[in-house]
Amino acid sequence: LAGSGAGGVASYHPVLDQQSLRRLQLGTELEQAMAEGQISVVFQPIIDARTSDIVSVETLVRWAHPRYGAIAPDDFIHLAEQIGRIGLLTDHVLDLALARCRRWLDQDIALSVAVNLSARCLTEPDLVDRVRRALRRHGVPGELLTLELTEGSVVDDSVRSSTVLADLHALGLRLSMDDFGTGYSSLSQLRQLPIDEVKIDKSFVLGMSTSQGESFIARSIIELAHNLGLRVVAEGVEDELTRNLLAEMGCDKLQGFLVSRPLPDERLESWLLARTG
Ligand code: C2E
Ligand code: CA
Ligand code: CA
Ligand code: CA
Repeated sequence: LAGSGAGGVASYHPVLDQQSLRRLQLGTELEQAMAEGQISVVFQPIIDARTSDIVSVETLVRWAHPRYGAIAPDDFIHLAEQIGRIGLLTDHVLDLALARCRRWLDQDIALSVAVNLSARCLTEPDLVDRVRRALRRHGVPGELLTLELTEGSVVDDSVRSSTVLADLHALGLRLSMDDFGTGYSSLSQLRQLPIDEVKIDKSFVLGMSTSQGESFIARSIIELAHNLGLRVVAEGVEDELTRNLLAEMGCDKLQGFLVSRPLPDERLESWLLARTG
């Protein structure tokens, strides 16, 4: 029996471990979860670093699983990509974000919303059309939408050689480079792309109050980005010292637990009311 197919396979792949099993199951459950309203979003305020006015909110997806409880996006975004459901999930999140934005517009509040776009989405041929249709369906002008892209996705050759970024930009929306500093792109590459803004990754920002090195990186990113005409957002601002350092460095916008945690819709509403008086 030695060397038989079955034996060979069994010795290389023992059994599906607990984690793989769960992933497999979650994949099949994701679509139903959207239909049943288990997938929701929270909004995290982003403020102007000088005036502290709220300028935008970032939309962050949440999955309240009936059996597993809250599943973190870092655990299921990747899964959705793998099983080819990320487009569906993105459309769902975009829909919730634009619906929220629309309701603000109806109250004469022009607050912009940011939505995360995973790398995989930029290679979907119908992405631009879907975004255009979503904006139209909700009657939201492109200027009120920011799409956050990860560094890795724009250095991808197929994305760089396509017109997807230019086509999205042509819808009037803003493009933001998320997690900046962790990937492989350089600011000079950014200059060739229609990017409006960079977000300094929270791994640098979190260390600023204790490490001169992290502060130096933040300062360098801000200076270089400004020289290229880009706006800069710092995410992961958790304390006053960091906030003051960033403001002093000329960082344009701030986001983090110091300002507010990501909030469900109703709580955001009262947060806004309390803040604007
Ligand atoms: P991200 O886009 O970098 O989002 C920022 C993450 O940092 C969020 O985690 C947010 O809750 C957290 N955060 C905000 N302020 C602070 C702070 O002051 N300190 C610390 N330590 N953390 C802070 P979250 O919500 O767990 O999301 C994790 C990642 O999942 C996001 O990272 C994003 O890459 C991805 N993600 C979330 N929603 C979506 C979505 O709708 N679509 C896609 N494609 N990805 C999403
Ligand atoms: Ca983001
Ligand atoms: Ca980020
Ligand atoms: Ca991140």
